[in-house]
Amino acid sequence: MLDQSKAKLLAESSDMTPVQGTVEVDIPIEVLWKCFTRANHWPRWNKCFFWVENCDLVKGQQLIWCFQPIRWWYLYKMPAIAKIVEVEENRKVTWEVVALPGFYARHTYFMEDLGNGRSRFGSWEQAMGWSFRLTKKFWVAHFVFVKDQSLQGVRRLEAIYRKKGNLQEQNLPRKHYWPFLLSLLLLPLFIVGIIVYRFYRAYLRQTAIKLAPGVHAVFGGGGNSLVMQDSNDVLLVDTKFPPASGWLQNWIARNVGSPVTKVVNTHYHYDHTLGNILYPGAQIIAHKNVPALMLAQDGDPMLDQDGDWWSTHRSGIPTTLINDGSHHIAVGNQEVILTHPDIAHTHGDVWVYLPEQNIIATGDIFLHTYYTFFDRGKGGTLLPRLIKTVRTLADSYPAALFVPGHGPLADAADLHQYADYLEFLYHAVEYAYKHGLSEDEAVRNIDLSQWKLHILPSFHHYKLAWATARNNIRWVYQIIGRIFRA
Ligand SMILES: [Zn+2]
Repeated sequence: MLDQSKAKLLAESSDMTPVQGTVEVDIPIEVLWKCFTRANHWPRWNKCFFWVENCDLVKGQQLIWCFQPIRWWYLYKMPAIAKIVEVEENRKVTWEVVALPGFYARHTYFMEDLGNGRSRFGSWEQAMGWSFRLTKKFWVAHFVFVKDQSLQGVRRLEAIYRKKGNLQEQNLPRKHYWPFLLSLLLLPLFIVGIIVYRFYRAYLRQTAIKLAPGVHAVFGGGGNSLVMQDSNDVLLVDTKFPPASGWLQNWIARNVGSPVTKVVNTHYHYDHTLGNILYPGAQIIAHKNVPALMLAQDGDPMLDQDGDWWSTHRSGIPTTLINDGSHHIAVGNQEVILTHPDIAHTHGDVWVYLPEQNIIATGDIFLHTYYTFFDRGKGGTLLPRLIKTVRTLADSYPAALFVPGHGPLADAADLHQYADYLEFLYHAVEYAYKHGLSEDEAVRNIDLSQWKLHILPSFHHYKLAWATARNNIRWVYQIIGRIFRA
């Protein structure tokens, strides 16, 4: 009764006009019907079906199948379940889909004998209900797809019948499932591949920009590097870490005529220094605190703790050490000024100034467009002094071109904006700390979205960590907590 009343409702429904069509073929109706009633063979000639469970089209039985997507590159295989409500011998089968809530559809395939071994095959479908109406556009496209594919399928049967004289199972095309199974297996690999490639593009890929004659910035794959050549003298500021340190070495070999004679480390962190060992002939220069920080065992677990590594790679540890204040070195006939600005990003920072070109490599005193890594170890960040240093740099060199520790080229205004960010972060976290908020509560309460910064990964000791808004709040909270407890 219910079925009948629904069918009646459907007939009266204005949700959609039925999707229907017919095709006339040179197949006797008994032959076509006999072939057609083997529903599990439908996917072999009707391309709207991916798979149909064995069913001999008996009234009252369920029909279960998977539809192919309406475009081959859509990735779904849509399962469906229906009940066969009408079977007329050699003529007609109807089923209704009721498994979806708010959705009722009726589908009929029918045949007519045209005489002289010819038949007319038809497909008819209509649906109604609130969930149908919500996604009507998709469903109508789907019904048109089903109708078109079904009629084309019967044309396909006609071609087989003309050739073979019958429609026995062995003459129907084979349906292969292995491409689908293979793609199921390969899809996760494909997705992982895309993620790896995007990670490579964003963080590992090296790009070099010529800033002035003989001066290049090499971005990505760890901290940014600066390469400066004058006659046979080649200065390299920061050497990255594997594998990008090797790529940088290759880039220098290809693009700079002479070997590196001087290496400057802007600070001790692994992503700026592990490549030092690739330049055994070079003089390695850093602030006097750097060797001890490299060899320390008790630093920030994420940034530091390379003591074991450095103790077995001592050739990479700087031996030309500079004191506080500014120091002049010569690169060919040019002067380069190294300045230790007091404690800032670490206890051993140096920025590198090329006076002739008005270019400054800041190391991690300044990160451009990214959230920051705060070194929470003993030799790490002191935020108020870091902020002061960033402002001093910007004010002292208002027209300079800045190569940040990470991120793209910048000007003095970008440094001020970075100082603004650090100041905002520091004061917000300090306020939260002083008002008794926990670290988690501080993370929930402080909104850093206005700074529009990007996340930055650190890959160290086989662990991936990210500088994010949440982590920036956490790290500053921990630094402030230590200061207040001390
Ligand atoms: Zn750093």
